[in-house]
Amino acid sequence: MLAIISDIHSNLEALQAVLDDIREQGVEKIYCLGDIIGYGPNPRECIDAVMDFPVVLLGNHDQAAIFDPEGFNAGALRAILWTRQQLEEDPNQERAMQRWEFLAERPRRHSENGVIYVHGSVRNPLNEYIFPEDIYNQRKMEKIFALVEQYCFQGHTHVPGIFTERLEYYHPEEISGEYRLDNAKTLINVGSVGQPRDGDWRACYVLFDPKQRLVRFRRVPYDVETTIQKIYEVEELDKYLGDRLREGR
Ligand code: ZN
Repeated sequence: MLAIISDIHSNLEALQAVLDDIREQGVEKIYCLGDIIGYGPNPRECIDAVMDFPVVLLGNHDQAAIFDPEGFNAGALRAILWTRQQLEEDPNQERAMQRWEFLAERPRRHSENGVIYVHGSVRNPLNEYIFPEDIYNQRKMEKIFALVEQYCFQGHTHVPGIFTERLEYYHPEEISGEYRLDNAKTLINVGSVGQPRDGDWRACYVLFDPKQRLVRFRRVPYDVETTIQKIYEVEELDKYLGDRLREGR
């Protein structure tokens, strides 16, 4: 059994709650689909927590923190620049260097037994969003599915769900959090650990049992008020970045 997490966004409380939950599920490996950092108050700690995972992909916020940020709104950009500063100004410079190198070496995709793992989409691993309403954009979805061998796990939108090549979308709530993959090509958005945007504030991730082809969505409550307080205390992080956590928006 595999746990697949994404979009932690420097939210340590959410990440720790998810890792605790994962520990109780009989999971062998944890994969992370990127965006470890950006938005939240604990970039260093979140990177340290995922460094040993066998697969950690590069997300657009990870890339922006170490390379040139492009295409971000003002609040996200300020958070990215503050994040970069946190990574650079760690008093432990050796550790700072290790984190920097770790981020710089992240792959953009991983593929294993016919299953692809990306941050955004298989067509544009770093930046393309596939939202639930894209199911009505047949041309876009056909192009995406043409690039998928069988199944693709992704994140980036912070909205969990199942997309099939029959152009169906299921939010986890509609399927009681469980989906058995069939022979149709399927995209699985694992949702966001640290900044869910589907109206549910709880951290989200996925358990995947490849033998049974079973995908299970997990929602994990965490101490969201502590994270919000920490965000309020950093001038460079917009208050909105805290407030939205409470709403899951
Ligand atoms: Zn993200």
